[in-house]
Amino acid sequence: MNQSKLFRLTRLRFTTGYALVMGLALCLGSLIVYEGIIAVHQKIVQQKLTSLAGVLHDSIEPALERPGQLPIIAQQLAPGLCGQAIPCVQPNNPSGRHMAAVFQASDYYVRFLSQSGQSLAEAGQQPEAIPSSKDPFWQTVRDRQGDRYYQISWQLRTKDNLPWGYLQVGQSLQQWDEFLASIRLFLLFGLPFAMLLIGLVSWWLAGLAMQPIYRSYRQMQQFTSDAAHELRTPLTVVQSTVEDTWLAEDLPAVHRNLDIIERQTIRLSELVKDLLLICRVEQQHQLLKLQPCCLNDLVCDLVEELAGLALAAEVALLTDLRVKEAVLMMGDEAQLYRMVSNLLTNAIRYTPPGGKVKVVLDRTDHEALIQVQDTGMGIAATDQTRIFDRFYRVQRDRSRTTGGVGLGLSIVQAIVHAHAGKIQLQSAVGKGSTFTVRFPLFQ
Ligand code: ADP
Repeated sequence: MNQSKLFRLTRLRFTTGYALVMGLALCLGSLIVYEGIIAVHQKIVQQKLTSLAGVLHDSIEPALERPGQLPIIAQQLAPGLCGQAIPCVQPNNPSGRHMAAVFQASDYYVRFLSQSGQSLAEAGQQPEAIPSSKDPFWQTVRDRQGDRYYQISWQLRTKDNLPWGYLQVGQSLQQWDEFLASIRLFLLFGLPFAMLLIGLVSWWLAGLAMQPIYRSYRQMQQFTSDAAHELRTPLTVVQSTVEDTWLAEDLPAVHRNLDIIERQTIRLSELVKDLLLICRVEQQHQLLKLQPCCLNDLVCDLVEELAGLALAAEVALLTDLRVKEAVLMMGDEAQLYRMVSNLLTNAIRYTPPGGKVKVVLDRTDHEALIQVQDTGMGIAATDQTRIFDRFYRVQRDRSRTTGGVGLGLSIVQAIVHAHAGKIQLQSAVGKGSTFTVRFPLFQ
């Protein structure tokens, strides 16, 4: 499958996954909140109706004489109450009239039912055709228009403990239902819009999540093609030299060709070794052969070893050990050696004759510091961010003359990171470069 198509498909899969999870969470969250609001409202209504029914029940029941008759106190408690069990009278005082009006205007109603369920007296907003249930429990009922009411029914007994009938207290749910309908409408139109938004955000998030994968994939592709390119050059030389050798007529020509083949195979094996080293260091941090390493010895050994190279390049190689005591760190000695060697070799290579290369060793309370300074050609700011990339060379021709393929600094960086260190570069074109490496100390 085409790679960009594969990435697009993966992004789409990520998006669908994110959108599904987020959409489900949103729907579930909305449902929980919706049900929660209903449950809380029901609880509040239940509390109100229970207290109202309780007051009426406790005040009226002790005054009940006979079934079918209500005491006058019932009318004082539920203004406007009237029916077969109690005659309709208009309260004669203003506060009584006011209370009756308030009760009439409220959502509540009170009803007294006979044992057989026949309505004996009613007060409040009278819903039409509410089933006169006498069951002593909570009930949601509908009138002819379909409006809902929530009510509680309570058994009443006379003074002589004879069954009198039932007290029923209820509340209209019309306003509440209108409110719920508007919430449902909001969810109905809001959810698709939210899902669209979630889809867009998911697409963006999936793109964000894919970016490092895509970048590392591109890097891998670049690495493979660069490696193949670098391997091909010496291989082509070897191949053509071998062909040439078959046709050679004298021994000196054969020797010359063997020389070329040997140089190219050495170059090839160095390249393969470097590639393997990078892969090993980057992939197997945990397999580093860690041991306490003395950086003073390491720096002195290397300066001694590279003295010949510096001499040939007519570059002064100096050492500045700023601490007398041993600077110790945990590390893989061979790799640390390789790291400093790469930095020093580069410094010597890219410094013109007459220049200076200095290696500084210092320490702070927690860190060891190795600095490689040179007075060479320097590195332009635009290249400074890229020189640690594999196979990156500032000017291909410039490093071709030095024999480099652009892996030296990648190896340095991989080793520094594998040792939990940091590397920094300061450079100015024409003035020189300073590479500073910091490692945690072994204490
Ligand atoms: P190479 O093997 O080509 O030297 P490196 O990864 O070691 O590859 O370095 C990458 C590039 O950085 C080199 O091509 C070189 O141009 C530049 N470079 C590295 N070290 C220095 C230095 N001390 N001074 C100037 N340029 C440098």
